[in-house]
Amino acid sequence: MVPVPRRPKVPPEAERSGVIGASAPVCAVCGGPRSPRKRETCSDRCRAELSRRRRKDVQRIRDEEIRTLLEVALKKLEEGTP
Ligand SMILES: [Zn+2]
Repeated sequence: MVPVPRRPKVPPEAERSGVIGASAPVCAVCGGPRSPRKRETCSDRCRAELSRRRRKDVQRIRDEEIRTLLEVALKKLEEGTP
């Protein structure tokens, strides 16, 4: 049995050109075009917004963690009550 390499239905070239943003990077905040030299965002303003969002996310995740821990702690207290 000789393994026959299967041809992909879409040639890699066509696939790449079909994907929007593959060659032109977009801003992670406003979705607008950004310079490939810049990372993630198009401007300092969007960069500040991105870091603000991330801080918020971190805060939210932390709050959820604390809430879960408190719920577990309360459950333990209730279980421990004679
Ligand atoms: Zn932007």
